[in-house]
Amino acid sequence: MEVDKDLKNSTQVAYISMEIAVDSSIPTYSGGLGVLSGDTVRSAADLELPMVGLCLCYSSGYFYQFFNEHGEQKEKEIEWNFFYEFEKVEKPISIKIEDKEVLVSAWLYKVMGQSGHILPIYLLTTDIEGNEDWMKKMTGSLYDSTSRWNRIVQEMILGIGGVKLLNSQGYNNIETYHLNEGHGSFSIVELYDMLNGDLDKVRDKVVFTTHTPVPAGHDRFNLDLVDKVFENRMPSEISKIAEDNGQFNMTYLGMGLSRYRNGVAKKHGDISRKMFPQYEVDSITNGIHLGFWVSRPFRHIFNKKWPNWKANPSILQNAIELDDLDIFDAHIENKFNLINYQKGHSWNLLDEERITIGFARRFATYKRATLIFKDIDRLGSICKDKIQFIFAGKAHPKDTKGKDYIKEIYKAGEYLYDNYGVKVVMMENYNMDISHMLVSGCDVWLNTPERYREASGTSGMKAALNGVLNFSVQDGWWLEGYHKNPMAGWAIGPDDSNPNDSGVSNDWDVDSKAIYEVLENEIIPTYLNHEDWLFRSKNAIALAAFFNTNRMMKEYAKKAYKLRKQKPWQYVK
Ligand SMILES: *Cc1c(COP(=O)(O)O)cnc(C)c1O
Repeated sequence: MEVDKDLKNSTQVAYISMEIAVDSSIPTYSGGLGVLSGDTVRSAADLELPMVGLCLCYSSGYFYQFFNEHGEQKEKEIEWNFFYEFEKVEKPISIKIEDKEVLVSAWLYKVMGQSGHILPIYLLTTDIEGNEDWMKKMTGSLYDSTSRWNRIVQEMILGIGGVKLLNSQGYNNIETYHLNEGHGSFSIVELYDMLNGDLDKVRDKVVFTTHTPVPAGHDRFNLDLVDKVFENRMPSEISKIAEDNGQFNMTYLGMGLSRYRNGVAKKHGDISRKMFPQYEVDSITNGIHLGFWVSRPFRHIFNKKWPNWKANPSILQNAIELDDLDIFDAHIENKFNLINYQKGHSWNLLDEERITIGFARRFATYKRATLIFKDIDRLGSICKDKIQFIFAGKAHPKDTKGKDYIKEIYKAGEYLYDNYGVKVVMMENYNMDISHMLVSGCDVWLNTPERYREASGTSGMKAALNGVLNFSVQDGWWLEGYHKNPMAGWAIGPDDSNPNDSGVSNDWDVDSKAIYEVLENEIIPTYLNHEDWLFRSKNAIALAAFFNTNRMMKEYAKKAYKLRKQKPWQYVK
């Protein structure tokens, strides 16, 4: 069914993201950015925010991952038939790429909030009749790495195609285009046309969220490439704003032409202000959708104690009142569930009796997945008969260093097993289903990024919600989380939270020693004392009350979207 007219007329915010993880099995995400976008639209729907979402639909998705016996990552293309789940938009629009008219249509997916409120999401596609075959492949796979041309074309489809499609669908009252990272920044070019080249009016319509704390991570294109695909239609006023040492920088474009900008955690706000000193950059700390990420046994406990907790998630801050035995039983159920699943998928069988430490995230090098193996014999002797590990995550197909990490984990695992009987397993094809199981079924959730490279991170919040204890470098959300409640887990090494980043230490020796000391002197003894452990579990749940996307979306509504008054929401200039 089409979206009804009243809903379209009342829609004031367009949320534009290269990834939106609406469902685990639908391949519109690769990692944290997409999962955050998914939780964003789920919470926006719960709060009945007047929002519409835009993303691309990728018929071959990101990729399916498996490992060979040497721990080498192998990739398979996914084939996804969007027509099973979605409704097709009847009228395509067209956008100009080089000298060709390319048709863009969309699949409509509806996110339903708790009260039944509908938040429409349009997944744009060029795989439609009327396009030549090579055009149909444009939206084929996420972060297509075959060429920069493919990438810029995808971003034109998202930004320019997205704005045009909303216009053609009758969304006539959009006050805010929220660009979630720079991939959607070309929508500014379309707005510039719509608003007759008035830059102030364009700026007044755009909100920009950055997620990347390192300059090199921001999306850029060669000017020649921009000239080629836009056939010199890019307005020079806009090129000037996006200019970055001879390249076209999508973040500069978004930062330069937005009325509000933000980073995704307090520290990330500081870092972004340093990276972009010419702009005001606020911060809104990320969260997770608690209803989506709570495991079944914990949902039961929360429902029993606070029947209305989903409408008022901050009530979880009283988690300390929960019953110890309930928490213990719920955790054991999650742990058995994970270990049983793992037993069905591996030859190296995990053991229910051992402290299970989980690590799952993209294998980007700054995340230092192998830090814990730095002094492998020390690790082995600490963990012998007590601790086991479970890893998961994908490396981008072109990231050979990330792939080497996976091989190193395999090798370290063999060594630890042969010499100390310590088990290390790798789970294949990390996605939201596996994530649900891991973040609730491990005892301890490990995170070891280089300081100030992790904008926020969200998997640790999912763990905390399910009573799992974080064991992490103080970066991103955990820099805030650990300071709010140090009983919710443990920190690795110093926090270096001085305003001057030059003092940051990311020394592998220092940080790995810190890991071993906490493992030996804190984590193992606490585990042996059930009461202490459960006390921490309850503190972890209480902490998760803050890191939720309902709180986050209320901040966006007020500070970024300038919406006032609940139902009906109103945009206030
Ligand atoms: C939560 C989640 C992420 C993001 O986790 P980080 O802690 O930010 O790395 C990535 N991938 C999947 C599948 C997730 O569920």
